[in-house]
Amino acid sequence: MIFDVVQRSLQSADALIPVEQLLGNCSGSRMPDVQPALLTASIAQRVAEACPTSALAFDTSRSHLTLNYGECTGCGRCIEAGEGAFLAAAKFARCGVSKEGLVRHFDLNRVSEITPDQPALAETAEKIRAILGRALNIREVDAGSCNGCEGEIIALTNPYYDLERFGIHFVASPKHADMLLVTGPVTRNMAEAVRQTYEATPSPRLVVAVGACGCSGGIFAGSHAVVGGVDAVIPVDGYVPGCPPTPAMLLTGILQVLRRRS
Ligand code: SF4
Ligand code: SF4
Repeated sequence: MIFDVVQRSLQSADALIPVEQLLGNCSGSRMPDVQPALLTASIAQRVAEACPTSALAFDTSRSHLTLNYGECTGCGRCIEAGEGAFLAAAKFARCGVSKEGLVRHFDLNRVSEITPDQPALAETAEKIRAILGRALNIREVDAGSCNGCEGEIIALTNPYYDLERFGIHFVASPKHADMLLVTGPVTRNMAEAVRQTYEATPSPRLVVAVGACGCSGGIFAGSHAVVGGVDAVIPVDGYVPGCPPTPAMLLTGILQVLRRRS
């Protein structure tokens, strides 16, 4: 049995995934995308009611639908209730963006999106490729996560994604870090530890909030046990939504934050 596995492994093609396939890839995340042309008021009302985290909000007086990816858990309910106006995103560029960049607005009277979509990753791929190979040390901080995000972050270091090939390493101390990757809603017990970790990281330092929890508090927002998303405690340079974000979304987000700051 084990020899069959080894033989298949030796015969299979190179499994290292090229960076072009990683950038903007959100396969498996169930992040929703919207077809504005198919949106109606009744669909908007229904998906807003179906959304368990208020990531979707419908203002009936203005016929204005808002989708905040920072609060989206990828539960898929809007896709089920959206009659084709919502579908699983094939590509997702909103990783490593500002908080405002996580939000999309739709005007149902004009049957269009008010805010244009993020610039296509293809436009930035050249800049991102120029960044690859520079050394970047990351300190991961669990501020109260369920460990779902950690599972995806750990996957970044496996031979399939092989984060180290991009010159990106995880380090054990914030004193050696260029970037903090912070997961979870920040619990009251962890708030001071997050602050101290930030202070211990030498400037210039970058902070990336990971997951719906890191972006907004996620499903724990409003709980007495948490103070909120990461930016409730320390300044954040970029947000990577998802519950959890996939390794490809994490890598895209890290590289987008570097690109925006370079
Ligand atoms: S996939 Fe996101 S936006 Fe859609 S219903 Fe679930 S949480 Fe809300
Ligand atoms: S975003 Fe989702 S997977 Fe990540 S810590 Fe929060 S609940 Fe867990």
